[in-house]
Amino acid sequence: MIAELRPETICAGDERFEGAVVEGVFNAMVAGGRPVAVVRPRNEAEVVQAVRDAAAVGQRVAVRSGGHSWVAASVREGGVLIDLGELDGIAVDAEAMVATIGPGVRGKALSAALEAKGLAFPVGHCGDPGVGGFLLGGGLGVNWGAWLPSCFSIRSLRVVTADGELRTASVDENQDLFWLARGVGPGFPGVVTSFEVQLRPAPAEVRVSTWTYPLDELAAVTRWVTEASAGLEPNVEVAVVTQGVGRPGGTAEHPLVVGVAATAVIEAHGDGDGDGVTDALAPLGDGAPGLVPLGRFEGPARLSELHVPVDATYPEGARYLADTFWTHLPLDEAMAPLEALMACAPSGKSYVLTGMPANGRGAELLPVGEAAYGLHDTTVLIVYVIWDDPADDAANRAWLDEVAAALLPTCTGHVLSEADIREHPERIARSFRDEDWPRIRDLIARFDPDTLFHGFPETAPVG
Ligand SMILES: Cc1cc2nc3c(=O)[nH]c(=O)nc-3n(C[C@H](O)[C@H](O)[C@H](O)COP(=O)(O)OP(=O)(O)OC[C@H]3O[C@@H](n4cnc5c(N)ncnc54)[C@H](O)[C@@H]3O)c2cc1C
Repeated sequence: MIAELRPETICAGDERFEGAVVEGVFNAMVAGGRPVAVVRPRNEAEVVQAVRDAAAVGQRVAVRSGGHSWVAASVREGGVLIDLGELDGIAVDAEAMVATIGPGVRGKALSAALEAKGLAFPVGHCGDPGVGGFLLGGGLGVNWGAWLPSCFSIRSLRVVTADGELRTASVDENQDLFWLARGVGPGFPGVVTSFEVQLRPAPAEVRVSTWTYPLDELAAVTRWVTEASAGLEPNVEVAVVTQGVGRPGGTAEHPLVVGVAATAVIEAHGDGDGDGVTDALAPLGDGAPGLVPLGRFEGPARLSELHVPVDATYPEGARYLADTFWTHLPLDEAMAPLEALMACAPSGKSYVLTGMPANGRGAELLPVGEAAYGLHDTTVLIVYVIWDDPADDAANRAWLDEVAAALLPTCTGHVLSEADIREHPERIARSFRDEDWPRIRDLIARFDPDTLFHGFPETAPVG
């Protein structure tokens, strides 16, 4: 009877244990540490119980929602892993334009559920990360230039703090906890059991326009995008990808290419506005002047399906390293080193995604100081190193080091959720504004004085 009132617990030594630790982690390169037990709560009361039980027996706590931390932040040495995968409920109040969602909800499930009701939320570009880690880390989602990082759409959240109490945090109560929860990611000193998020009407129209060029045209292509960006509104998101042959879209004939994808999200057509999409994309014209693209696509899209081509670029079961670099440079100057660097990538699956949020106005539009997430600059470069064979680990790590060495001299900060923070813990502080970092450290110490939660990942061996 008692067992039925307690969350399912799988201890080290149980034949299911290793699977319970690693199978929910997206990156096949899982950190080397192991907890002593995995707890799988089925509801909020069981989360409270799990936190109290861990504290009572002197065990630290790690948390997992969707398992998509690149650095496997949920896999830690010692303590209890609370796996929230089963807290995946979605309750929509369409009239109030609000949804209450469990941390284990995947972005694509949320987007599909909302679209069926004529509603929308800035879910991640990839469909599979859990909203738990995605929202806590800031959340760079669809249309983030106009809709802002997704954490700014959180209205409130319910949290079990280190003292085992369940609290609600919002702009009206537990404001410090609410401030932290919007950006501090794996450093968050509590377990979020649900988020209440602000919804938007489903857009009137979404259109995707893509071009592919040989990589040796990188300078001309990025100059075109940079110049056109000055005329693009924040609701047009332009991603420029340098990639090898192993990523979808690559061809043996042109093993290295640069792809440009522009996504226009038109929220509503104004009176007499016949073709908002054409107007929105007009500054991009017919592509890079004077160049004939290797590939070209333009067509309507559904917001809930934007993740499909993105997901295909992150193969399941692969080994990954990810890192991020903000820079004050415009996109063309920021990407200049990539032509030579892509040519020596050991894996053709690896790629670098570059964008200027809000087409260069991302820093200006960010509500600074409102949340722990507060660092934007002109251009962001996100490096994804993707390979299969553990024997290639060292070569791929060396390539990421080389890319980082080229980008760091002009780097002004990092995006916590996709930064290489196990190898470079100094990237954690550099993911926040200088003036916010002392406050973050003080608040974490205040809410978790005995360090019940593992918090930011320590440097750990990977294997
Ligand atoms: C394939 C892929 C694509 C991605 N695309 C994007 C993208 O488009 N935009 C973007 O912003 N990011 C993206 N990311 C990064 C991703 O958002 C973060 O890694 C995020 O942390 C993943 O959330 P999760 O719940 O799946 O991860 P988990 O590994 O489950 O969680 C990561 C850490 O966050 C903390 N945490 C998670 N849930 C809770 C909770 N309920 N309470 C307290 N702490 C919690 C814990 O410390 C946990 O260890 C992507 C990652 C991958 C692997």
